[in-house]
Amino acid sequence: MSRGADPGGRGGAGATRASAAAPRAGILVTGTEVLTGIISDRNGPWLSERLHDLGVDTATIQIVGDRPADLRAALHAMREAGMALIVTSGGLGPTADDLTAEVVGQFCGRQMVLDAALEARIGEILERLTARWPNLDPDAVRESNRKQALIPEGATILDPVGTAPGLVVPQAHGDGPTVVVLPGPPRELQAMWEAARATEAFSAAIAGATSYEREIVRLFGIPESEIASTLRVAEQEGLDLDPLEITTCLRRGEIEVATRFFPADRQAYDALLDLIRRRHPETLFSQDGSTIDDLLAGLLRGHTLAVAESCTAGGLASRLTDPPGASEYLLGGAVVYSNDAKADLAGVDPALIERHGAVSTEVAQALAHGIAERFGAELGIGITGIAGPGGGTAEKPVGLVCLSVWMRGEPPRTLTRRTRLPGGRADVRDRSVTVAMHMLRRVLLGESDAAA
Ligand code: ATP
Ligand code: MG
Repeated sequence: MSRGADPGGRGGAGATRASAAAPRAGILVTGTEVLTGIISDRNGPWLSERLHDLGVDTATIQIVGDRPADLRAALHAMREAGMALIVTSGGLGPTADDLTAEVVGQFCGRQMVLDAALEARIGEILERLTARWPNLDPDAVRESNRKQALIPEGATILDPVGTAPGLVVPQAHGDGPTVVVLPGPPRELQAMWEAARATEAFSAAIAGATSYEREIVRLFGIPESEIASTLRVAEQEGLDLDPLEITTCLRRGEIEVATRFFPADRQAYDALLDLIRRRHPETLFSQDGSTIDDLLAGLLRGHTLAVAESCTAGGLASRLTDPPGASEYLLGGAVVYSNDAKADLAGVDPALIERHGAVSTEVAQALAHGIAERFGAELGIGITGIAGPGGGTAEKPVGLVCLSVWMRGEPPRTLTRRTRLPGGRADVRDRSVTVAMHMLRRVLLGESDAAA
């Protein structure tokens, strides 16, 4: 859901503050592997977000295959549509299907020239590479080195992150968009972005843009409709939301409210944040953009933790170890599907499983406590559930998940929940992990169920 798509005012007459000033950009993603769906595009959305933050209005993201005619047609269409800037991704490599630099050079009215310094630079990089692959044909290596050092005359070179340099290419004659040419691998493209942005040619192309501020808050445990109603209340209370572009979305079971505004309108944002704080004190868990992963990484420092997972098959352990340094607090865990595994690895009493069934709050609790003891950890988490598609019953349907957190102490803290999660198998597993992380946060902050 999004409202107020033009920060700077609604301006029924058309000319809002933002749209009057904002230069427009087109993103051109190249690669037959992206076009055919073999890999999904990660560059278009990433670039769009960066451009938006700079106050540039991304008008289109287009994907074309590795065919020069299609690339050319897309560039010309973007020029026709009045783009001030075009950002391309892909097609900068050494192979014959990598032809972006040449097509862009032509489009900008510039000759291709060999840049000797760049050739030497790439040569050094290739030398390191060929040291690892001693059987490469040196002639072929030299040839590809040369190809990648051929650039449109007068373009600004962006230092290679891999072997391919990026380029910023203004039009040689007259009006038209400046083209930023970036490599396809997301890691390389992202690493090169700051350098591209810092060039004079880039600044000149987007002159007049005003950077937005962007703030994100996150809530967990309420439906999206609650936020919609808070926004209605805001207007009833007379808050000025017009300068704010507010986008709410549901992500992994959390609600993310992202707001963009011009620096001068910070007051309007502060008033909104204050209202959200007042209306959702229990569910608002992040006010500064940090994720539950970030928060847990901070809270877990100095503690130790072990996990016992059925249903999520290690998904929780995997997510907990995303932040670097997690091995200091996550001692380990066990994936326990069979009853024997639950008993042998997490110390669950088989009679308890017999009595309550493997998917039960009792077994989740026993898993949490048992795995903590097993690893000598201060905290334990147990998850047991039915992710589907089969295996559900009327009494215990697909999506039923029982989770428990146990924390050593006198008395120990415990938090146990039985929940029914929507969606398919992947959703249930993913959401279970999110729920477990939020329960863990609550326990670390001191919460506990009444004495179990
Ligand atoms: P290289 O020197 O690696 O060939 P390149 O600039 O020529 O770089 P491409 O050949 O277009 O880039 O893509 C190389 C690889 O980068 C692709 O096979 C793919 O794995 C990844 N990649 C390219 N474009 C995208 C994209 N839009 N989204 C995600 N990954 C991408
Ligand atoms: Mg390539």
